[in-house]
Amino acid sequence: MTAHVTLGTREQARDGAPTLEAFSRQLLASGILSPSGVDGVWVRSATFERITEAVQRSVTALGRGRYETIQVPPVIARATLERAGYVRSFTDLVGSVHVFRGSDQQHADLLRRCDAGTDWAAVLDPADVMLSSAACHHVYPMCAGRLPPGGRRVEVRGECFRHEPSSQVTRHRSFRMHELVFVGEPVDALTHRDAGLAEGLELLSTLGLTVEAAAANDPFFGRAGAILADGQRQDAAKYEGVAPVGDLPTAIMSANYAAEHFGAAFAIATAGGVVAHSSCVAFGLDRVALALLSAHGLDVDRWPVGVRQRLWQ
Ligand code: 5GP
Ligand code: ZN
Repeated sequence: MTAHVTLGTREQARDGAPTLEAFSRQLLASGILSPSGVDGVWVRSATFERITEAVQRSVTALGRGRYETIQVPPVIARATLERAGYVRSFTDLVGSVHVFRGSDQQHADLLRRCDAGTDWAAVLDPADVMLSSAACHHVYPMCAGRLPPGGRRVEVRGECFRHEPSSQVTRHRSFRMHELVFVGEPVDALTHRDAGLAEGLELLSTLGLTVEAAAANDPFFGRAGAILADGQRQDAAKYEGVAPVGDLPTAIMSANYAAEHFGAAFAIATAGGVVAHSSCVAFGLDRVALALLSAHGLDVDRWPVGVRQRLWQ
Protein backbone atom coordinates (compact mmCIF):
# COMPACT_ATOMS: atom_id res chain seq x y z
CA MET A 1 0.00 0.00 0.00
CA THR A 2 0.96 3.63 -0.37
CA ALA A 3 3.22 4.93 2.39
CA HIS A 4 1.63 7.60 4.53
CA VAL A 5 3.79 10.51 5.56
CA THR A 6 3.39 11.99 9.02
CA LEU A 7 2.46 15.63 8.64
CA GLY A 8 3.98 18.33 10.76
CA THR A 9 3.88 22.07 10.36
CA ARG A 10 6.79 22.01 7.87
CA GLU A 11 6.13 23.88 4.62
CA GLN A 12 8.67 21.91 2.58
CA ALA A 13 9.63 18.28 2.53
CA ARG A 14 13.31 17.33 2.44
CA ASP A 15 13.37 17.17 -1.36
CA GLY A 16 12.05 20.73 -1.61
CA ALA A 17 8.44 19.86 -2.59
CA PRO A 18 5.78 21.61 -0.53
CA THR A 19 4.30 19.38 2.17
CA LEU A 20 0.80 18.02 1.61
CA GLU A 21 -0.30 20.41 4.34
CA ALA A 22 1.11 23.46 2.52
CA PHE A 23 -0.24 22.26 -0.85
CA SER A 24 -3.72 21.72 0.67
CA ARG A 25 -3.75 25.18 2.23
CA GLN A 26 -2.89 26.80 -1.12
CA LEU A 27 -5.38 24.62 -2.98
CA LEU A 28 -8.26 25.55 -0.67
CA ALA A 29 -7.26 29.24 -0.67
CA SER A 30 -7.42 29.17 -4.50
CA GLY A 31 -10.98 27.77 -4.41
CA ILE A 32 -10.05 24.89 -6.75
CA LEU A 33 -11.61 22.59 -4.15
CA SER A 34 -13.87 23.86 -1.37
CA PRO A 35 -14.87 22.11 1.84
CA SER A 36 -18.43 20.75 1.98
CA GLY A 37 -18.71 20.79 5.76
CA VAL A 38 -17.92 17.08 6.23
CA ASP A 39 -14.59 15.29 5.91
CA GLY A 40 -13.77 13.69 2.58
CA VAL A 41 -16.50 15.40 0.53
CA TRP A 42 -15.20 18.25 -1.62
CA VAL A 43 -16.94 20.78 -3.83
CA ARG A 44 -15.22 20.92 -7.22
CA SER A 45 -14.60 24.16 -9.13
CA ALA A 46 -14.73 24.65 -12.92
CA THR A 47 -10.91 24.62 -12.93
CA PHE A 48 -10.83 21.23 -11.21
CA GLU A 49 -13.42 19.86 -13.64
CA ARG A 50 -11.48 21.23 -16.61
CA ILE A 51 -8.60 19.04 -15.46
CA THR A 52 -10.62 15.89 -14.69
CA GLU A 53 -12.45 16.14 -18.04
CA ALA A 54 -9.12 16.37 -19.89
CA VAL A 55 -7.80 13.36 -17.95
CA GLN A 56 -10.96 11.42 -18.89
CA ARG A 57 -10.33 12.15 -22.58
CA SER A 58 -6.76 10.86 -22.19
CA VAL A 59 -7.99 7.66 -20.54
CA THR A 60 -10.55 7.19 -23.32
CA ALA A 61 -7.75 7.63 -25.89
CA LEU A 62 -5.83 4.79 -24.16
CA GLY A 63 -8.74 2.52 -25.13
CA ARG A 64 -8.17 3.25 -28.86
CA GLY A 65 -11.83 2.59 -29.68
CA ARG A 66 -11.67 -1.02 -28.47
CA TYR A 67 -14.06 -0.56 -25.52
CA GLU A 68 -17.82 -0.21 -25.15
CA THR A 69 -18.28 3.00 -23.16
CA ILE A 70 -20.71 3.38 -20.28
CA GLN A 71 -21.36 5.92 -17.53
CA VAL A 72 -22.72 4.54 -14.30
CA PRO A 73 -24.75 6.15 -11.51
CA PRO A 74 -23.43 6.70 -7.97
CA VAL A 75 -25.77 3.99 -6.62
CA ILE A 76 -25.77 0.27 -7.34
CA ALA A 77 -28.16 -2.63 -6.65
CA ARG A 78 -27.54 -3.93 -3.14
CA ALA A 79 -27.55 -7.48 -4.58
CA THR A 80 -24.68 -6.55 -6.94
CA LEU A 81 -22.49 -5.22 -4.14
CA GLU A 82 -23.17 -8.42 -2.15
CA ARG A 83 -22.35 -10.68 -5.10
CA ALA A 84 -19.18 -8.70 -5.81
CA GLY A 85 -18.03 -9.69 -2.31
CA TYR A 86 -17.66 -6.05 -1.29
CA VAL A 87 -20.06 -6.18 1.66
CA ARG A 88 -18.15 -9.07 3.29
CA SER A 89 -14.61 -7.98 2.47
CA PHE A 90 -14.82 -4.18 2.81
CA THR A 91 -17.60 -3.85 5.38
CA ASP A 92 -16.11 -0.71 6.90
CA LEU A 93 -16.04 1.11 3.52
CA VAL A 94 -19.63 0.42 2.46
CA GLY A 95 -22.19 3.24 2.26
CA SER A 96 -25.91 2.52 2.42
CA VAL A 97 -28.91 4.40 1.08
CA HIS A 98 -31.89 4.73 3.41
CA VAL A 99 -35.40 5.80 2.47
CA PHE A 100 -38.66 6.64 4.23
CA ARG A 101 -41.33 3.96 3.84
CA GLY A 102 -43.31 4.76 6.96
CA SER A 103 -46.94 5.47 7.89
CA ASP A 104 -48.46 8.85 8.80
CA GLN A 105 -47.66 8.02 12.41
CA GLN A 106 -44.01 7.39 11.61
CA HIS A 107 -43.95 10.61 9.57
CA ALA A 108 -45.19 12.48 12.65
CA ASP A 109 -42.40 10.78 14.64
CA LEU A 110 -39.84 11.92 12.06
CA LEU A 111 -41.13 15.52 12.21
CA ARG A 112 -40.91 15.48 16.02
CA ARG A 113 -37.33 14.25 15.79
CA CYS A 114 -36.47 16.98 13.24
CA ASP A 115 -37.97 19.67 15.49
CA ALA A 116 -36.14 18.32 18.54
CA GLY A 117 -32.85 18.04 16.64
CA THR A 118 -32.63 14.31 17.41
CA ASP A 119 -31.78 11.46 15.04
CA TRP A 120 -34.58 11.46 12.41
CA ALA A 121 -32.55 9.07 10.21
CA ALA A 122 -33.39 6.29 12.70
CA VAL A 123 -36.92 6.27 11.18
CA LEU A 124 -35.58 5.39 7.70
CA ASP A 125 -35.20 1.91 6.18
CA PRO A 126 -32.39 0.55 3.99
CA ALA A 127 -33.21 0.79 0.28
CA ASP A 128 -32.49 -1.82 -2.39
CA VAL A 129 -29.57 0.31 -3.58
CA MET A 130 -26.20 1.08 -1.98
CA LEU A 131 -23.57 3.66 -2.84
CA SER A 132 -21.30 2.38 -5.60
CA SER A 133 -17.80 1.44 -4.35
CA ALA A 134 -16.02 0.83 -7.67
CA ALA A 135 -17.14 1.76 -11.17
CA CYS A 136 -16.35 -1.72 -12.52
CA HIS A 137 -18.92 -3.40 -10.23
CA HIS A 138 -21.62 -2.22 -12.66
CA VAL A 139 -19.96 -4.08 -15.55
CA TYR A 140 -20.09 -7.68 -14.29
CA PRO A 141 -23.90 -8.13 -14.15
CA MET A 142 -23.98 -6.80 -17.74
CA CYS A 143 -21.66 -9.62 -18.78
CA ALA A 144 -23.63 -12.50 -17.21
CA GLY A 145 -24.00 -15.51 -19.52
CA ARG A 146 -21.80 -16.57 -22.44
CA LEU A 147 -19.28 -13.94 -23.67
CA PRO A 148 -18.52 -13.38 -27.35
CA PRO A 149 -15.20 -14.80 -28.64
CA GLY A 150 -12.40 -12.48 -27.44
CA GLY A 151 -14.40 -11.45 -24.36
CA ARG A 152 -15.73 -7.96 -23.60
CA ARG A 153 -13.95 -4.67 -23.04
CA VAL A 154 -15.87 -1.96 -21.21
CA GLU A 155 -14.78 1.58 -20.40
CA VAL A 156 -16.72 2.77 -17.36
CA ARG A 157 -16.81 6.02 -15.46
CA GLY A 158 -18.70 6.85 -12.30
CA GLU A 159 -18.83 8.42 -8.86
CA CYS A 160 -17.74 6.08 -6.06
CA PHE A 161 -18.19 6.18 -2.30
CA ARG A 162 -15.98 4.66 0.38
CA HIS A 163 -16.47 5.43 4.05
CA GLU A 164 -12.95 6.61 4.85
CA PRO A 165 -13.52 10.02 6.44
CA SER A 166 -10.34 12.07 6.52
CA SER A 167 -9.54 15.75 6.34
CA GLN A 168 -6.72 15.07 3.83
CA VAL A 169 -7.44 16.50 0.36
CA THR A 170 -6.23 13.24 -1.21
CA ARG A 171 -8.70 11.02 0.68
CA HIS A 172 -12.23 11.54 -0.65
CA ARG A 173 -15.27 9.62 0.47
CA SER A 174 -16.92 10.53 -2.84
CA PHE A 175 -14.59 10.41 -5.85
CA ARG A 176 -14.61 9.60 -9.59
CA MET A 177 -13.17 6.41 -11.03
CA HIS A 178 -12.54 5.85 -14.74
CA GLU A 179 -11.80 2.22 -15.56
CA LEU A 180 -10.87 0.03 -18.50
CA VAL A 181 -12.32 -3.40 -17.78
CA PHE A 182 -11.75 -6.72 -19.54
CA VAL A 183 -13.78 -9.90 -19.03
CA GLY A 184 -12.82 -13.03 -20.96
CA GLU A 185 -10.11 -15.68 -21.29
CA PRO A 186 -7.74 -15.96 -18.28
CA VAL A 187 -4.58 -15.25 -20.26
CA ASP A 188 -6.17 -12.23 -21.95
CA ALA A 189 -7.30 -10.81 -18.59
CA LEU A 190 -3.73 -10.88 -17.30
CA THR A 191 -2.35 -9.38 -20.51
CA HIS A 192 -4.98 -6.63 -20.29
CA ARG A 193 -3.93 -5.82 -16.72
CA ASP A 194 -0.22 -5.72 -17.56
CA ALA A 195 -0.62 -3.72 -20.78
CA GLY A 196 -3.06 -1.32 -19.04
CA LEU A 197 -0.62 -0.77 -16.18
CA ALA A 198 2.27 -0.02 -18.56
CA GLU A 199 0.18 2.27 -20.79
CA GLY A 200 -1.42 4.01 -17.81
CA LEU A 201 1.95 4.73 -16.21
CA GLU A 202 3.24 6.04 -19.51
CA LEU A 203 0.21 8.31 -19.93
CA LEU A 204 0.69 9.73 -16.44
CA SER A 205 4.40 10.32 -16.97
CA THR A 206 3.76 12.09 -20.31
CA LEU A 207 1.58 14.44 -18.24
CA GLY A 208 4.71 15.36 -16.28
CA LEU A 209 4.00 13.22 -13.21
CA THR A 210 6.68 11.30 -11.36
CA VAL A 211 4.81 8.03 -11.08
CA GLU A 212 6.02 4.64 -9.91
CA ALA A 213 4.41 1.22 -9.93
CA ALA A 214 4.11 -0.47 -6.54
CA ALA A 215 2.74 -3.89 -5.60
CA ALA A 216 -0.34 -3.30 -3.48
CA ASN A 217 -3.27 -4.93 -1.72
CA ASP A 218 -6.84 -3.86 -1.06
CA PRO A 219 -7.75 -2.94 2.54
CA PHE A 220 -9.77 -6.11 3.28
CA PHE A 221 -11.66 -5.82 6.58
CA GLY A 222 -11.38 -7.92 9.71
CA ARG A 223 -9.28 -10.88 10.83
CA ALA A 224 -9.74 -12.79 7.59
CA GLY A 225 -8.84 -9.59 5.76
CA ALA A 226 -5.14 -9.83 6.57
CA ILE A 227 -5.02 -13.30 4.97
CA LEU A 228 -6.83 -12.09 1.85
CA ALA A 229 -4.47 -9.10 1.57
CA ASP A 230 -1.42 -11.39 1.90
CA GLY A 231 -2.80 -13.70 -0.80
CA GLN A 232 -3.42 -10.76 -3.12
CA ARG A 233 0.20 -9.65 -2.72
CA GLN A 234 1.57 -13.16 -3.16
CA ASP A 235 -0.44 -13.52 -6.37
CA ALA A 236 0.84 -10.10 -7.55
CA ALA A 237 -2.83 -9.36 -8.30
CA LYS A 238 -2.77 -5.60 -7.67
CA TYR A 239 -0.41 -2.80 -8.62
CA GLU A 240 -0.79 0.90 -8.01
CA GLY A 241 0.61 3.89 -9.86
CA VAL A 242 1.88 6.15 -7.09
CA ALA A 243 2.66 9.85 -7.57
CA PRO A 244 3.30 12.63 -5.06
CA VAL A 245 0.61 15.06 -3.96
CA GLY A 246 2.62 17.59 -1.97
CA ASP A 247 5.06 15.23 -0.28
CA LEU A 248 2.55 12.37 0.10
CA PRO A 249 2.99 9.37 -2.24
CA THR A 250 -0.58 8.79 -3.43
CA ALA A 251 -2.18 5.95 -5.44
CA ILE A 252 -3.60 7.71 -8.49
CA MET A 253 -4.33 4.56 -10.50
CA SER A 254 -4.48 0.81 -9.96
CA ALA A 255 -4.27 -2.25 -12.18
CA ASN A 256 -6.10 -5.29 -10.83
CA TYR A 257 -6.29 -8.93 -11.88
CA ALA A 258 -9.40 -10.44 -10.25
CA ALA A 259 -8.90 -13.94 -11.75
CA GLU A 260 -12.27 -15.81 -11.70
CA HIS A 261 -13.68 -13.83 -8.73
CA PHE A 262 -16.26 -11.76 -10.67
CA GLY A 263 -16.74 -14.37 -13.41
CA ALA A 264 -17.83 -16.93 -10.80
CA ALA A 265 -19.91 -14.46 -8.76
CA PHE A 266 -21.87 -13.20 -11.78
CA ALA A 267 -22.01 -16.46 -13.78
CA ILE A 268 -19.93 -15.18 -16.70
CA ALA A 269 -18.59 -17.81 -19.12
CA THR A 270 -16.07 -17.40 -21.92
CA ALA A 271 -17.06 -18.29 -25.50
CA GLY A 272 -15.38 -21.67 -24.82
CA GLY A 273 -17.62 -22.24 -21.77
CA VAL A 274 -15.19 -21.83 -18.86
CA VAL A 275 -15.53 -19.31 -16.01
CA ALA A 276 -14.37 -15.91 -17.28
CA HIS A 277 -11.48 -14.04 -15.68
CA SER A 278 -11.40 -10.25 -15.41
CA SER A 279 -9.06 -7.35 -14.88
CA CYS A 280 -9.51 -3.61 -14.53
CA VAL A 281 -7.26 -0.59 -14.81
CA ALA A 282 -8.68 2.21 -12.66
CA PHE A 283 -7.76 5.89 -12.74
CA GLY A 284 -8.76 7.99 -9.74
CA LEU A 285 -9.72 11.14 -11.66
CA ASP A 286 -9.72 13.42 -8.61
CA ARG A 287 -6.33 12.17 -7.44
CA VAL A 288 -4.79 12.48 -10.92
CA ALA A 289 -6.02 16.11 -10.98
CA LEU A 290 -4.49 16.72 -7.53
CA ALA A 291 -1.17 15.17 -8.58
CA LEU A 292 -1.13 17.44 -11.68
CA LEU A 293 -1.91 20.54 -9.60
CA SER A 294 0.81 19.55 -7.16
CA ALA A 295 3.40 18.91 -9.91
CA HIS A 296 2.65 21.91 -12.13
CA GLY A 297 1.11 24.52 -9.83
CA LEU A 298 -2.35 25.91 -9.21
CA ASP A 299 -2.39 28.20 -12.27
CA VAL A 300 -3.39 25.78 -15.04
CA ASP A 301 -2.64 28.34 -17.77
CA ARG A 302 1.00 28.33 -16.66
CA TRP A 303 1.49 24.55 -16.77
CA PRO A 304 4.28 23.35 -19.10
CA VAL A 305 3.26 23.80 -22.75
CA GLY A 306 3.72 20.08 -23.53
CA VAL A 307 1.35 19.06 -20.71
CA ARG A 308 -1.30 21.60 -21.76
CA GLN A 309 -1.05 20.43 -25.37
CA ARG A 310 -1.54 16.82 -24.35
CA LEU A 311 -4.53 17.64 -22.19
CA TRP A 312 -6.30 20.30 -24.22
CA GLN A 313 -5.28 20.03 -27.89
P1 5GP B 1 -8.88 0.89 -5.94
O1 5GP B 1 -10.10 0.16 -6.44
O2 5GP B 1 -7.61 0.40 -6.54
O3 5GP B 1 -8.84 0.95 -4.44
O4 5GP B 1 -9.09 2.39 -6.40
C1 5GP B 1 -8.90 2.81 -7.72
C2 5GP B 1 -8.43 4.24 -7.72
O5 5GP B 1 -9.46 5.07 -7.15
C3 5GP B 1 -7.22 4.49 -6.82
O6 5GP B 1 -6.01 4.22 -7.48
C4 5GP B 1 -7.37 5.97 -6.52
O7 5GP B 1 -6.79 6.76 -7.52
C5 5GP B 1 -8.87 6.17 -6.50
N1 5GP B 1 -9.26 6.22 -5.07
C6 5GP B 1 -9.36 5.19 -4.19
N2 5GP B 1 -9.67 5.65 -2.97
C7 5GP B 1 -9.74 7.00 -3.07
C8 5GP B 1 -10.01 8.06 -2.14
O8 5GP B 1 -10.22 7.84 -0.94
N3 5GP B 1 -9.99 9.32 -2.62
C9 5GP B 1 -9.75 9.59 -3.93
N4 5GP B 1 -9.76 10.88 -4.32
N5 5GP B 1 -9.49 8.63 -4.83
C10 5GP B 1 -9.48 7.35 -4.41
ZN1 ZN C 1 -12.24 -2.12 -11.00
